[in-house]
Amino acid sequence: MPSPFVTRLATFQQQERLAVEDDAERRTFAELWDRAQRARLALTGGAPSLEGRAVAILVSPGALWLEAFLGTILAGGVALPLSPLYPPAELAWFGEDARAAAVIVSEDQRERGALLCEGRRVLSAEALARGPRPEGDAASIDPDDVALLLYTSGTTGKPKGAMITHANIEVQAAILREAWGFGEEDRLLHALPLHHLHGLGISLLTTLLAGAAARMLPRFDARRVWEAFCAPDGPTVWMAVPTMYQKLFEALDAADAETRARWAEGARALRLATSGSAALPVTLAERWRSLTGAIPLERFGMTEIGVGATNPLDPASRRPGSVGSPPRSVEARIVDEAGRDLERGPGELWIRGPSVFKGYLGREEATRGAFAEGQWFRTGDVAERADDGSLRLLGRTSVDILKSGGYKLSALEIEEALRENVAVAEVAVVGLPDEAWGERVVAVVVPAPGRDAACAPDVLRGWAKERMAPYKVPREVIVASALPRNALGKVVKPELVKAILEGTV
Ligand code: ATP
Ligand code: MG
Repeated sequence: MPSPFVTRLATFQQQERLAVEDDAERRTFAELWDRAQRARLALTGGAPSLEGRAVAILVSPGALWLEAFLGTILAGGVALPLSPLYPPAELAWFGEDARAAAVIVSEDQRERGALLCEGRRVLSAEALARGPRPEGDAASIDPDDVALLLYTSGTTGKPKGAMITHANIEVQAAILREAWGFGEEDRLLHALPLHHLHGLGISLLTTLLAGAAARMLPRFDARRVWEAFCAPDGPTVWMAVPTMYQKLFEALDAADAETRARWAEGARALRLATSGSAALPVTLAERWRSLTGAIPLERFGMTEIGVGATNPLDPASRRPGSVGSPPRSVEARIVDEAGRDLERGPGELWIRGPSVFKGYLGREEATRGAFAEGQWFRTGDVAERADDGSLRLLGRTSVDILKSGGYKLSALEIEEALRENVAVAEVAVVGLPDEAWGERVVAVVVPAPGRDAACAPDVLRGWAKERMAPYKVPREVIVASALPRNALGKVVKPELVKAILEGTV
């Protein structure tokens, strides 16, 4: 059986509609297919296939990136997308861990990628599609062959390389096409990193495999995003992480009244705005609603499982603070510590479905530990089910569920409560070891501009005492100028805890 991903993409190979554009290039589906084929020949050098060898992609986001990626896929290789923001030594670590045989690198990344390229075959992203076109469509590929190696975000520990198959990619795109109503007339505005599933699989490939077009920005820049919303033939779909919504509002607040009105009109023209990768603060969701008439569609996903739950497409049925329900063909369970089903929870969320990955590369034990009997993937996230069956996430067992004085507390819930205080711009709640309490609740707070006084520890604790159950009130409040975040804007809590213990926050 051929790869369902390649088969689906091939259905658009003669279409002259726009597939992808960036600041410099525009490609129709026909051009993209043609150039990806040429890239494939450059990669195989005439051999039938790359036979599952990993190809690191260190290319700035845009049409060239996509050609490098699709060329690797068509050649029967495994694409290893790397961030152009990683330091050189880290890039080299990923190359080693994934045993990358080759590197596709763009001119602007040469210096950063020098260490990664050492001892590997190196191909120029700019030259990749300049050569001749091969015979035939693609190497022989099985649906269960690995297409993509994506590293988890490293929010809770060292990133792990998740092996994602050709079937995983296609089925994920098909599920989301249906759940989010994608059609050929859609236009995605893309500003997410391409080395994570959110930016690559859920955003870019879902769009492409729907026969729709993507406008790719080189990086997220709030003002550029607002302006892109307003462009003629502007986007219909925008996908983002919560910190992007935060930054969008900061830019909006800094703009003059006329600009604000224009930007808001641009945002209202979107058919769909989504949020994922981390919990979307309700304050941000509501602000988006007051601007556009609908809260963003929030969904829950993981590198290992794809989208595990999504709010409905119908804006009136979306619920702030909820991640919705599993999409078609995905199943969810909430279980206790012994793996017994709980009707509502809270308990650990387990997911099963065709978008669930094949395993962690070179980490058999971690892979075995990640699955329970019957192919259920243990997410490590704690969830609770509402009356209508939709799910609410309470956080990760490892960093967000605190045990304090006999209570189990959700850091996400406490963060959400503290955000109701307008003086709080950003907040992260962690548990620190405590002899009397097991763990004590500590809130690290970044005050809103000019609101330092209202975030002073005593003032904020006083405010919290009037509104929260006593055992949820942070025992300690630490004021900081910023929180440690990764590429997706997630707070890296182990790093934060270390900084607190070392007194360097
Ligand atoms: P690592 O596994 O390396 O520690 P990570 O889990 O952050 O990193 P990802 O696979 O990118 O790596 O992220 C998946 C996690 O993101 C989920 O397990 C969940 O904790 C969180 N997440 C995703 N979407 C949401 C959401 N809508 N609300 C809350 N949390 C979310
Ligand atoms: Mg994870």
